[in-house]
Amino acid sequence: MTTPNTEGTAAAGSPSRVLVLNSGSSSVKYQLLDMSDRSRLASGLVERIGEETSRLVHTPPPGAGAVREREGRIADHDEALRAAAEELAADGLGLDSPDLAAIGHRVVHGGLRFTEPTVITDEVLKEIERLVPVAPLHNPANITGIRTARALRPDLPQVAVFDTAFHATMPEYAARYAIDVETADAHRIRRYGFHGTSHAYVSRKAAALLGKEPAEVNVIVLHLGNGASASAVAGGRCVETSMGLTPLEGLVMGTRSGDIDPAVTFHLKRVAGMSADEIDVLLNKKSGLVGLCGDNDMREIRRRVDEGDERATLAFDIYIHRLKKYIGAYSAVLGRVDAVVFTAGVGENSGPVREAAMAGLEEFGLVVDADLNAVRSGVPRLISPDYARVAVAVVPTDEELEIANQTFALVDN
Ligand code: AMP
Repeated sequence: MTTPNTEGTAAAGSPSRVLVLNSGSSSVKYQLLDMSDRSRLASGLVERIGEETSRLVHTPPPGAGAVREREGRIADHDEALRAAAEELAADGLGLDSPDLAAIGHRVVHGGLRFTEPTVITDEVLKEIERLVPVAPLHNPANITGIRTARALRPDLPQVAVFDTAFHATMPEYAARYAIDVETADAHRIRRYGFHGTSHAYVSRKAAALLGKEPAEVNVIVLHLGNGASASAVAGGRCVETSMGLTPLEGLVMGTRSGDIDPAVTFHLKRVAGMSADEIDVLLNKKSGLVGLCGDNDMREIRRRVDEGDERATLAFDIYIHRLKKYIGAYSAVLGRVDAVVFTAGVGENSGPVREAAMAGLEEFGLVVDADLNAVRSGVPRLISPDYARVAVAVVPTDEELEIANQTFALVDN
């Protein structure tokens, strides 16, 4: 998929609101956007679904009062979505409104079948279910969210926007693992990549920041949040990304190891007697920064580094070393790099990470201006000096807006 032009304006008089739903295993995030000016009307989060301590936090439209909270058990996604709908209705933004044009759902895994945002039909939903074996942690929650939303508004277009879709343009030689082809194909084992809506949005915004069309630029996007991934985007098309069959591959993350020798897994089974599930938990939940130093919040890690804490310093150094390896590799993949772009929680907020990741890369044309890097701002900005051969930029990501854009582009006619 090339990045579609999803930033048109709503036709006058037609429904212009899009509700974006991001259903996780125990949480639902929602945002209602007005696509006539892309403003955020209301948003919220329901967390710890199924526990006694569930919580809903709802942010009403600007000027419409304070943030509202509900505490107490919310049994399942159905109840969570109904509670969110009640909060929206209390703001005069109920799901029964004729202004609602569509509901856009984040769906983590689209496999090879879904490489574009797709209007959800019974058949599409079945296909998303067929992908559960390759995304057992994510797709079931997304499916529950879709079912509940369809029950609430059966007449309304519902659109699935896939995390994997932007990476579908990767050439076969980048997407295939060098393992037996029959085995790989029988089990749909290949590199799919994730965070695609973020990489699509940020690479397009980076081109705009350079005053160019996406087709004219080559960019490396570093999405550094609690999960982290890099992508190489050539002329608006993704040609390489660091996550693979699952979001475990690639960079060091908050709790995930990123790249390791796959033989570590058999070693753990044979020598430590661990089961596949235990190894899964170890690599996904107890590794990365948290496994290395006990913290996964970069703010806390930097505080400890500044105090001279050795474990935090080593964790930070491993994190930066891996990032540099990917920047170097993706520079080679792209041949010419116009911009390196930082985004997500760490990428947008941590000057020290950006500075350390770029240190010593002057030969690659990469330089960071210390004053620009220290600026805190919520807008896309350059942090490289004018003379630098390659732009270094910070571009805040907005996955919900990108999902709304892609959803609206499909249903607005
Ligand atoms: P995300 O997954 O994109 O929401 O990013 C969450 C992560 O961003 C947190 O775990 C922190 O490590 C990091 N983060 C958030 N704010 C800051 C900050 N001001 N400085 C450094 N890291 C931050």
